[in-house]
Amino acid sequence: MPFAIRPQPCWLVLQEGDWLGCGRCWGRAVWLAAQLWGEELAAGAVTEGPPVIVRAETPCVEMCCVRCGAWWVDPVSGLRLHGVSEGEARSAAVVDGWVGEVCPECVAAAGMS
Ligand SMILES: [Zn+2]
Ligand SMILES: [Zn+2]
Repeated sequence: MPFAIRPQPCWLVLQEGDWLGCGRCWGRAVWLAAQLWGEELAAGAVTEGPPVIVRAETPCVEMCCVRCGAWWVDPVSGLRLHGVSEGEARSAAVVDGWVGEVCPECVAAAGMS
């Protein structure tokens, strides 16, 4: 299984019901919400208000590559990323170059991109 369930539920950052990301702790979620909202406003988005932070009912899932076992991580911080569900993790990882459950390195090696 390329997915691992996190030991604890995250704090989720939601904008009008859409999941934007999550924080492992309250402080991190607040920081992330501020960042994301700032980006939206800077991009000219009209929102109904700042993102809201809610406690996840179920723990998030982390994903690792089905070929090499590398975790899906933040390219900047190196921290493991996660999605609210397997489907969310898969679609969120696309922006980092993942194809399904295969990491960018393996995608490049296999000439899949
Ligand atoms: Zn999470
Ligand atoms: Zn890989």
